[in-house]
Amino acid sequence: MKPFTFHSPQGLGEAVDLLERLGPGATVIAGGQTLLLAMKERLARPSALISLAEVADLRGVRHTGSGVLEIGAATTYAALAGARLPGWHAEIAAVAGDLADRPVRTMGTIGGALCAADPRFDMVTLVVGLGAELDVVGPGGARAIPAAEFFLPDGGTVLAPGEILTTIRVPALPVYTGVAFEKFRHRVFEAAVVSAVCAVRPNGTRRITVGAVHPAPTVMADGDSADAGRRAADELMPESRATTQLRRYQRELARVLVTRAIARAQDTSATNTAAGS
Ligand SMILES: Cc1cc2nc3c(=O)[nH]c(=O)nc-3n(C[C@H](O)[C@H](O)[C@H](O)COP(=O)(O)OP(=O)(O)OC[C@H]3O[C@@H](n4cnc5c(N)ncnc54)[C@H](O)[C@@H]3O)c2cc1C
Repeated sequence: MKPFTFHSPQGLGEAVDLLERLGPGATVIAGGQTLLLAMKERLARPSALISLAEVADLRGVRHTGSGVLEIGAATTYAALAGARLPGWHAEIAAVAGDLADRPVRTMGTIGGALCAADPRFDMVTLVVGLGAELDVVGPGGARAIPAAEFFLPDGGTVLAPGEILTTIRVPALPVYTGVAFEKFRHRVFEAAVVSAVCAVRPNGTRRITVGAVHPAPTVMADGDSADAGRRAADELMPESRATTQLRRYQRELARVLVTRAIARAQDTSATNTAAGS
């Protein structure tokens, strides 16, 4: 492993300043669950690591006055899983509690997963599926990016050099009546082969998103047709392009998981609507 310096800023401003001052070889480290593996394999060779562990502003889960759920980027999966969230916001905690294993959930952060931008990571699909907004800050100031625009179609993110993801802002509960995330993985500790999110709006229309198939999650053009699972599979990958065994497998999984996500989201939607009426 190439030698590097380690820095532990106590605040966000200090972290941004360090990242700019230490130059292009510097990178932030959150839980290290992806970055350290990349460093061990020499895929990443930073000259300086700037730890987010002591930056308290980046941790925690809270609701704003308007009901938007704000999740600090350096919030660990374990903290997120333990948060008592109301209504469909609880699906986010459930996803955090069900991924990887306990050591990864203890160290890994939601922001780290989003910035690593591996399409197989659950939170990548989930934040796009929920239409969340991502707040970032850097030398040029702060900006808010819709999650669907954060991930580039060919992989990676729109983060500019020196920018840090600070907050994931999830819409308030009234925006959807029910939400469900579904995924398929070969083994419990493996990332998804396909994942799907269905979010039901109060008018009954659905936002459907599929992840892990392409470098960035795909928001389906037609989430409301009768056979949305089949439509999703066709839109994601026409049969003619599903030429390998993995692609055919993913196509079929997308059909099944979208169908399953719709059924469960509509179930919770019906329960929530009945409870609210
Ligand atoms: C054994 C194992 C099993 C796993 N299983 C699953 C699974 O089932 N489902 C799943 O979804 N994921 C799984 N993962 C992946 C896991 O979600 C990620 O490794 C982890 O969450 C990344 O977060 P981190 O805080 O450790 O990021 P780090 O490794 O610290 O950072 C990752 C990248 O993001 C950058 N970064 C981190 N935070 C920020 C920030 N705030 N702003 C800007 N850049 C930032 C870093 O510079 C680095 O490039 C697994 C990982 C392992 C090792």
